Amino acid sequence: SEWNEPRTISVLGATGSIGSSTLDLVRRHPEAFRVEALTAGGNVEQLAALAREFGARYAAVADPDRYAALKEALADTDIAVGAGDQALVEAADRPAEWVMAAIVGSAGLAPALAAIRRGVTVALANKETLVCAGELVMNEVARHGATLLPVDSEHNAIFQVLDGERRSDVSRLILTASGGPFRQTSREVLERATPEQAVAHPNWSMGAKISVDSATMMNKGLELIEAHHLFQIPEERIDVLVHPQSIIHSMVAYRDGSTLAQLGLPDMRTPIAHTLAWPGRMAGPVEHADLASIGQLTFEAPDDARFPALGLAREALRRAGRAPTMLNAANEVAVQAFLDGEIGFLGVPETVEAVLDRCGIGPIAGLDDVEEADREARALTRSLARRARASA
Ligand code: NAD
Ligand code: MG
Repeated sequence: SEWNEPRTISVLGATGSIGSSTLDLVRRHPEAFRVEALTAGGNVEQLAALAREFGARYAAVADPDRYAALKEALADTDIAVGAGDQALVEAADRPAEWVMAAIVGSAGLAPALAAIRRGVTVALANKETLVCAGELVMNEVARHGATLLPVDSEHNAIFQVLDGERRSDVSRLILTASGGPFRQTSREVLERATPEQAVAHPNWSMGAKISVDSATMMNKGLELIEAHHLFQIPEERIDVLVHPQSIIHSMVAYRDGSTLAQLGLPDMRTPIAHTLAWPGRMAGPVEHADLASIGQLTFEAPDDARFPALGLAREALRRAGRAPTMLNAANEVAVQAFLDGEIGFLGVPETVEAVLDRCGIGPIAGLDDVEEADREARALTRSLARRARASA
């Protein structure tokens, strides 16, 4: 029949860039969706306003000190509230058929896993989850029959292009990269790059952490690891290609000589709409890329000398075990130290490399191993950043 029940959805990280884009789409289709749970890191005012607007049944804030404020902000509603890590997991546990995992960093792992373990559809924006616990997450997806839909534009592009193709016919994945704000910046100037310059991305508007990752190109390194887990393709068959216009979001090369690409303007509402409507399509607000007016799509190889982060991620993926977990945690801490003005821009990959050099080998058998490797890397990174500052 034409008549469909609204789809019940939850948005983890509702106040962020991806969360806002997701809710923008939901706002345009009020008949199609019902919101179950929304979460935020600490912004209680924005979370409460969204929970009201969308008629959510549950709102959770990560910061436990914000519980009273959230409760008070929603006191005149019947929206249930929670605070702290356990409340984020409860939000993911609530009965939604579709969950957007858009918390930033490894803080998003436990809630994402909780949604996966309900066997529902999880739209995954939070790439750090797959970097720090890729095998574990993919095993849980298979074990619980969950559907994992990649939101990251590159992986969403590959997912669309792989649709119906046999994995054994794939020769290579080609991840495109904009090159970020410093694509043409010399090493001498990078040395003095400020947080303000680093977060000013030429094509995409994003949260601060991923914007710095784009500037160092660690973002593409994290995405390489993400692609490896999502699509089960070995590291040596995943290429990175700089494409400054960000129109081609990624490509798949097949063994018969064909290369297939997905194109669109750089607006995350396109891949998010794809995951909201999958396996169908929905009307979206983004115009098609007008190629005649864009005129040229250009490509270049990444510069490993100015952007060592990509090589560090490849190295971590080859070493496997706890290395990618530590790479991710070291990067999260180093990016925050850079944003706080404690280390320089080039100090970010340097610190990550120093942590990788010291991290030793070891398997990741369960969440405990992830947490231990994550904690160890964070402590090591903080002490290296302190030392760097002291000698500066
Ligand atoms: P953001 O910083 O704009 O938003 C992050 C969200 O997580 C916010 O709701 C914030 O309140 C919440 N949060 C922050 N710290 C938290 C914590 N410790 N515990 C619980 N919640 C916390 O980030 P974003 O740009 O929306 O990115 C979200 C995720 O999506 C990241 O993993 C990023 O790599 C990925 N991603 C983003 C884009 C993009 O265009 N923004 C594209 C691809 C992938
Ligand atoms: Mg991306």
